[in-house]
Amino acid sequence: MQSGPRHPPRAGRNGFVAVILAMTTLPAIACRSDLPAAGSAPVAAAEPRAVVGGITESEVADHVAFLASDRLAGRATPSPGLEAAARYVAAEFAGAGLEPAPGRELLQWYALPGGGAANRAPNAVGVLRGADPDLRDTFVVFTAHMDHVGIGAPDASGDSIYNGADDDASGTAALIEIAEAFAAVPERPARSVAFVAVSGEELGLFGSRAFIEHGGIAVERMVADVNIDMIGRNSPDSVVAIGMAYSDLGARLARIVETRPELGLTVVDDPWPEERFFFRSDHYNFAAAGIPALFLFAGVHEDYHRPSDQAERIDAGKIARVAGAAFLLGLAVANDREPPGWTAAGRSAVRPPSR
Ligand SMILES: [Zn+2]
Repeated sequence: MQSGPRHPPRAGRNGFVAVILAMTTLPAIACRSDLPAAGSAPVAAAEPRAVVGGITESEVADHVAFLASDRLAGRATPSPGLEAAARYVAAEFAGAGLEPAPGRELLQWYALPGGGAANRAPNAVGVLRGADPDLRDTFVVFTAHMDHVGIGAPDASGDSIYNGADDDASGTAALIEIAEAFAAVPERPARSVAFVAVSGEELGLFGSRAFIEHGGIAVERMVADVNIDMIGRNSPDSVVAIGMAYSDLGARLARIVETRPELGLTVVDDPWPEERFFFRSDHYNFAAAGIPALFLFAGVHEDYHRPSDQAERIDAGKIARVAGAAFLLGLAVANDREPPGWTAAGRSAVRPPSR
């Protein structure tokens, strides 16, 4: 998530953080009553219970632990840590059997503003080809940004690595798990699905723009973007759908979540319109290109853009459940002959070009 130039979300400025804190509830304490009594036979470790589509909290936690480790040094664009993140995501996509976008590799390098051959950054893009001869050349797109802000001013403890565990290792972990869930569906969806881990978000949404302009998939063939940025903190039982009223993606997500109580989620419409979050992450580039977009988000917090945005503060179970909901939304859209559309509210707020 980019800092807001006009409304930086700082504590105490406008009560914004107080709203977030009020929304936060304590995580449930794990029940220990299922531990074996002393002297009984040891119990084999249980298989981790999947949310939906094989998505588990432990896999999410592993992805976040790697991406937000000090070793990746905050994944600035460009940096060796960002490249390591991109290679990790591309390897996960390859392992799930995803293909590159037409005419491209899984790692898509693009030039950053300012020129110079070394001034470039990677996106990691994997595609699952659809099955329907009429619909397989259209794409449902999932996005999350791998990059964060790197190394900066140290905090009071002397920590200068801005790990970006929530922003946006949380969304990147979800993206990997959603891709694996799609790859495991026995029957391929009708439309194709593109999984796009971008970089350059914090600098100015550069990677998503590069993907839209020359990622190997024509804009006219993209029917929706579901963007996931900062879903690992705050209220464990809700997810905010920014842009919910702007297209029919929001109502569709709410219906899906209502019928899947195992997700333990409710979908909340944008409680912070004054923050203009719809205009501050990668889905905005898709919306501005005319593609209906929805942004899954859980709000900022006291560690936002600070060295303390670290893996141990992340609610991996929440990420897994939000990823499950996003997977079900994408699957429904990928199997619907009718593509998502803008609402009147979306047309007036976003003014997307007609397609
Ligand atoms: Zn950010």
